[in-house]
Amino acid sequence: MPELPEVETTRRGIEPHVVGRRIVSLAVYEPRLRWRVPNSLPAQVAGQKIRVAGRRAKYLLIELESGTLLLHLGMSGNLRVLPAQTPRLAHDHFDLLLDSGQTLRFNDPRRFGSLHYTTEAVDQHPLLARLAPEPLDVAFNTEYLWRATRRRSVAIKQLIMNSLLVVGVGNIYASEALFRARVRPRRSARSLSREEVARLVRSIRAVLKAAIRTGGTTLRDYVGANGNPGYFRQKLFVYERAGQPCRKCRKPIRQFTQGQRSTYYCTSCQK
Ligand SMILES: [Zn+2]
Repeated sequence: MPELPEVETTRRGIEPHVVGRRIVSLAVYEPRLRWRVPNSLPAQVAGQKIRVAGRRAKYLLIELESGTLLLHLGMSGNLRVLPAQTPRLAHDHFDLLLDSGQTLRFNDPRRFGSLHYTTEAVDQHPLLARLAPEPLDVAFNTEYLWRATRRRSVAIKQLIMNSLLVVGVGNIYASEALFRARVRPRRSARSLSREEVARLVRSIRAVLKAAIRTGGTTLRDYVGANGNPGYFRQKLFVYERAGQPCRKCRKPIRQFTQGQRSTYYCTSCQK
C-alpha cells in the first residue's frame, strides 16, 4: 500500500510534467473507484491550467485555476506520465490529458483509490478538514507527542499510526521509527520518557525523509511516477526481516501481530 513517502515521491515525479500545463480533457474509463467519479467532472476541469501539484497526508492535491483535484492512490494505485497515445492497460481508470501531448494516467487494480474535485478551500474539504498534523510539519514536535502520550495506555506503535494524532505514519515506517528510537512497539504510550518521545519524533521524521529521498519502499503494487520502483527497502532495519540478524547487534529480528498488522523489532536494541 502506498504510504506517505510513496505519495510524496509520486508528487515529485509528476510535478515537473503537470505544473503550468493546461488540461485538454479528463477521460474516465471506470468511474467506480472508492467513491464514484461524478459524470460532471470532465466538463468542470477541461481547459483549466494546473497551478500546483501539492499533497496533504496521502492525498495528491492538483490545484487548478478554479478548484482542486484530490487524488488518493488507495491500496494499489499508481500514476504515470505517459505519451497520450500509449495503449491502455487493464485497470487504467482515467487519463488527464495535457496540452504537452502527455497524459497523467491512473492505474488501480483494487479500485480503492479516489478522485474528487472541489471549488471551495481545499483544507476545508470533508476528507481533509479533520486531519492531524503532517509528520514533517513543525506542529508535530516533542511537546505535541509528549502531551498526546501522557494519559494513554495504548501501545506506542498503535498511537503513532493513528491518523487523528499524526497523518501518514503507516506500518512500515512505524516499525522502522521505533527501531531507530530504540523503543519497543508494545510499550504503553504513557510509559515513554520525554527523551524517548523526543527520539521518536526525530526518528519518524528521519525515516520518512530517508524514504522520500530514495523514492519510497518497493512494494508489489507500488511503482513511482516515472515507473521506477523505490529503493528504500534495502535500508530497512526491521520491517519484513523476521529471523534475519539485526543490522546493529546481529540478534534475530522478532515479529508479532499488533492490531492485525505485522510488527517487527529487535529485543536487544529496543527497550
Ligand atoms: Zn539489534
